[in-house]
Amino acid sequence: MNTMKKMVLNMSKTKKTPMRRCVGCMESKPKNELVRIACYEGEVTVDPTGKAKGRGVYLCPDKTCMEKARKRRSLQRNFEIEISEEKLQNIFTELESYEKQGE
Ligand SMILES: [Zn+2]
Repeated sequence: MNTMKKMVLNMSKTKKTPMRRCVGCMESKPKNELVRIACYEGEVTVDPTGKAKGRGVYLCPDKTCMEKARKRRSLQRNFEIEISEEKLQNIFTELESYEKQGE
């Protein structure tokens, strides 16, 4: 707990970019390095603009993080809904397309 707090404090000192926590690796990262996934009225969508309605979680567009989120059922837990394996796969496939985009 304490180390986590220290980390967040250090980061906010050096960077002014808003930080968000990835639900895969659970690390705080600059918002623009993560992709938002939104849930509105039971519909889960990838929200790269970060402006979609509803509740949102953030995930690194990284296979390792997606795998962790899948195993931990992070999306289901955060959104408090059931997401089918198929739906989850679609979301992750879309997320992958944002991986290292334009670099
Ligand atoms: Zn991550």
